[in-house]
Amino acid sequence: MARVLLINGGSEGHINPTLGVVQELVRRGEEVVYFAAEPYRDRIEQTGAKVITFDLGKFLEAFLAGGRSPWARVGGLLRTADIVIPSLLEQTSGERFDYIIHDSMFGCGRLLAQILGLPAINSCTSFAMQPNVFDGLQERLSRSFPEDMNERARQEFQQLVSDVQTKYNVQVGSAYEVFWNPAPLTIVYTSKRFQPDGESFDETYKFVGPSIAPRALAPFDFSQADTDRLIYISLGTVFNQAADFYKLCFAAFADTKYSVILSVGSQTQIEDLGDIPANFIVRSYVPQLEVLQHAKLFITHGGMNSASEGLYYGVPLIVLPQSADQPVIARRVAEVGAGIHLNPDGLTAETLREAAERVLGDVSLRQASVEMGDSFRAAGGHRQAVEEIFAYKRSLGMTK
Ligand code: UDP
Repeated sequence: MARVLLINGGSEGHINPTLGVVQELVRRGEEVVYFAAEPYRDRIEQTGAKVITFDLGKFLEAFLAGGRSPWARVGGLLRTADIVIPSLLEQTSGERFDYIIHDSMFGCGRLLAQILGLPAINSCTSFAMQPNVFDGLQERLSRSFPEDMNERARQEFQQLVSDVQTKYNVQVGSAYEVFWNPAPLTIVYTSKRFQPDGESFDETYKFVGPSIAPRALAPFDFSQADTDRLIYISLGTVFNQAADFYKLCFAAFADTKYSVILSVGSQTQIEDLGDIPANFIVRSYVPQLEVLQHAKLFITHGGMNSASEGLYYGVPLIVLPQSADQPVIARRVAEVGAGIHLNPDGLTAETLREAAERVLGDVSLRQASVEMGDSFRAAGGHRQAVEEIFAYKRSLGMTK
């Protein structure tokens, strides 16, 4: 039995895919200590891991301090070092670990692997990074600095790198390394078939498909919904303050033959949305995996988990990407023919309704999403992830 340290950032989309992996690691005898933000304690504890936490408020404040450009985000990730590293070291003082699993976008992943001298595994909840995925982001972040970065920003960034290196006695490496935390083994929660340029990755990337494990949530009451004509709409858990969009959905589908389940997130007050059409069920949060098993169409922001979960259950998608990796995911969904990509800017109720009718009436879109779901299941999910982790351990000569 090995002791595993798993570290992860502060959003549900990065945590959820790891839950099945941790449950399986624990089932197979590993002892897992999971370092995450406090709001995720309950769901992580249910996997059998021991949970230790960092201060999410301070973490987000540090992360968001620099601004929105990829370089500012990298600076933000470096700033989280002071929130994450001392807290983790203090809470695990005197403990011994055999390996570390870190989220690919948790800036301190590589740093903590260095500090603790542990073999590292990268947990990648989006598409894996290659020069031609994410519009050349890898290449831009691997350069020393972008040409248009001003001298002051350059100096600030260099100072930040130097401060982190000195304080924690680590090598920070390139901005790409901070952003993406490359490691000797990367678990990617999609199939090679869905990953853009999937065949170009070497053997250190293991495409295990979405890690769909049952979540201990109260069952959804479908008694008010017509599950033969069910549309599910969600913008995920982060970029979901979108009252105007939710009202647009009301206008698009009120008085139609469809039943609509709309998850608006915890940042929108349902009362502020005005009159809710009779064919809508609006909630702050729904058991998405359960709802998708009945949905005939999923209108999504294109978060990696949402898109994957929809396709896993063979549900065609309308993707309305907003930011982060969502535009790349939206393009890929359209490219593989499993849905359509709509621009959320200037979207009207009529365009959305017409798009929904087009998708619902198109057998080939449904067929492509079913085939993609088959490729996901064939990739093995969280059980295959653990097989890959154990194979990596064996390659290092770890016997327990
Ligand atoms: N989710 C859910 N119920 C909801 C909304 C979201 O269970 O009402 C889950 C969803 O199943 C997915 C995650 O939250 O696993 C959202 O992750 P995604 O990568 O799609 O988007 P993000 O929230 O990171 O933007």
